[in-house]
Amino acid sequence: MTNRTVALPDGTHIPAIGQGTWYMGDDPARRATEVETLRTGAACGMTLIDTAEMYGEGAAETLVGAAIAPLERDELFLVSKVYPHNAGRDRIFDSCRTSLDRLGVETLDLYLLHWRGDVPLAETVACKEQLQADGLIRRWGVSNFDVADMEELMAVPGGDACAVNQVLYHLGSRGIEFDLLPWQDAHGIPVMAYCPLAQGGRLSAGLLRDEAVAAVASRHDATPAQVLLAFVIRSGTVVAIPKASTPAHARDNAAALELRLTDDDLALLDQRFPAPDRKMPLDME
Ligand code: NAP
Repeated sequence: MTNRTVALPDGTHIPAIGQGTWYMGDDPARRATEVETLRTGAACGMTLIDTAEMYGEGAAETLVGAAIAPLERDELFLVSKVYPHNAGRDRIFDSCRTSLDRLGVETLDLYLLHWRGDVPLAETVACKEQLQADGLIRRWGVSNFDVADMEELMAVPGGDACAVNQVLYHLGSRGIEFDLLPWQDAHGIPVMAYCPLAQGGRLSAGLLRDEAVAAVASRHDATPAQVLLAFVIRSGTVVAIPKASTPAHARDNAAALELRLTDDDLALLDQRFPAPDRKMPLDME
């Protein structure tokens, strides 16, 4: 396990950079490379793997299951997510068991509500407590929750046991720094940052080719992707989950665990991508 970790509320330490899996497992022709990529990433310290029942309607979970089959279960931290429409008493237990079957494991380390839907939060929390009591999940969290949603969650019985809120966060989208990130820090609930590479620049045109990012990268003999990841995890309370489809990208991302940005680096990045000075709507993908 890398020494660059983030502490969960229960004291468990997880790697500050893990592996995303959205759009993985869809194409049989890429399967062998994707399996190799996830194994390479895990071998390089990215032992946290993020997936969801939504991704390829189970194809990503199945791919992860194949990739981790020969690995030590105890050395992995597996995250999956339930669809909002499956997050009620009538469906969540089947959903969770199906995710476990696809992954080929007996328990999830973290089970997230993918985004808010129509099922009352109190019902979802009660179900997750039941899943935990039954040993199917070790802890639970949420995704795409803004401050008001988190406040509402805290008011629900058991809601304060939330372990993580997974939200979009990258250098080109810093809205959470204004309120959500400080709120989560104050409550000891880590942020799990999705799209930390802005989907390879797709969500923020030119981010990977930006001059300020390139300048910081060259100071450290690093790649632009590594700078973006080091930026996201800089506080010690944020986990980044970049998705890579090649072993080379996985190695590149894992090496960002060793990259610490200096005050000068951060000043340069701030100048180019200013921190928010007002409330921003929660960015989502
Ligand atoms: P991302 O990780 O920001 O970007 C992925 C893109 O970056 C891919 O095109 C990938 O290319 C490229 N890339 C990866 N490593 C690179 C490197 N070292 N150098 C250059 N390019 C690199 O976007 P994302 O996949 O949307 O987000 C990450 C994960 O977060 C997802 O996979 C998923 O697990 C999770 N997520 C959660 C939610 C939610 O609602 N909770 C929403 C979106 C995503 P290659 O594929 O060619 O390697």
